[in-house]
Amino acid sequence: MNREFSLDRIIKTLKMVLPGGQEYIALHEPFFNGNEWTYVKKCLDSGWVSSSGEYVSLFEKQLEEYTGVKYAIAVVNGSAALHICLLILGVSAGDEVLIPAMTFIATANAVSYCGAIPHFVDCEARTLGLNPFKLEKYLDEIAQIRTEGCFNKITGRRIKAVVPMHTFGQPVDMDPLLEVCQKYSLEIIEDAAESLGSYYKGQHTGRLGQAAILSFNGNKIITTGGGGAILTNNESLASLARHITTQAKLPHPWSFHHDMQGFNYRMPNINAALGCAQMEQLPGFIEQKRELARRYQEAFAEVFGVEIFQEDAFAHSNYWLNVLLLDEEYSVQRDKLLELTNSQGIMTRPAWTLMPQLPMFQHCPHMDLRGAESLERRIINVPSSVGMTRGRFFCQENS
Ligand SMILES: *Cc1c(COP(=O)(O)O)cnc(C)c1O
Repeated sequence: MNREFSLDRIIKTLKMVLPGGQEYIALHEPFFNGNEWTYVKKCLDSGWVSSSGEYVSLFEKQLEEYTGVKYAIAVVNGSAALHICLLILGVSAGDEVLIPAMTFIATANAVSYCGAIPHFVDCEARTLGLNPFKLEKYLDEIAQIRTEGCFNKITGRRIKAVVPMHTFGQPVDMDPLLEVCQKYSLEIIEDAAESLGSYYKGQHTGRLGQAAILSFNGNKIITTGGGGAILTNNESLASLARHITTQAKLPHPWSFHHDMQGFNYRMPNINAALGCAQMEQLPGFIEQKRELARRYQEAFAEVFGVEIFQEDAFAHSNYWLNVLLLDEEYSVQRDKLLELTNSQGIMTRPAWTLMPQLPMFQHCPHMDLRGAESLERRIINVPSSVGMTRGRFFCQENS
């Protein structure tokens, strides 16, 4: 290996993997190559475009079968799904909810929607997600179990739940987290927005907590335009989620009765039609994603100062977004690399700004965040669309 850090070498290596002959390569593009047109047309022809319609139930059934979770409730987006999961698990105003410091804003915002306070947890390089071992040590110091639950000795507030997030499709180490949550009686809501098709020790992500969410936003592994889902194995949680997301309306042929505060969060049929077509293609998408990850790993194996993130032995990842990790000592070069790649038509981006650095969350409690801070300095997401491997395949065939 050439033991010299070179941005030029990194960009050349990226280009070896990227499809040729394109002026601009997006980070992640949606891929519609199945029955999307057919199903959306059927939906329009039937007149059932809104939140009741056969595609919604069909899509939910596909999600249940694919993930192995008993109940899936399709909703307008992943953020709404998170909001509802927190509510139905009893998170209320003034509670604290433990979430990773490095996550997409939706995780933290959902906690705020409930009037609760996000409490930030460190992340580990092994999974890019919440560090369960560090969380346990931290709770041993600051938490106290009382009859009403787990309390933060410093703030006096109840700590109600943990929201692990499976970053870029890489599963969090769930077993030790489950242990911590049992010890401190905390609910687990998995933010599986990025991990449809990712497994932890053979179990689909989103199966291990009390509830979980998925997102089908335009940039996710499958898309419904905008959309999300609530997953749970608990029947009463599932019916509560269904109820609360349809304005808490009591079923009746004509009268309007509502028994609690509800939301208009159900997924429209026209979006579900797209979702059904996308679900049919998901296994193929994942094969292509994993193949692309393998190509990145192979190409960068001998490049000094960087690595491509690889799943842990317990994980089978969907590799939604590939991660180029700079060695700590070269993290100062991150912005230069972002600048150079983006100006050459290769879309790359850094990790999210850590939540406690944002103005709305800077006064929220957090533990030592060294792991997340280091990851934030070192992560660069590289183009990861489905179809990229095929693009290259076609190029090779034609040449
Ligand atoms: C995409 C995403 C969500 C949900 O986003 P929506 O755009 O509301 O569907 C939540 N959490 C994470 C980590 C995400 O990446």
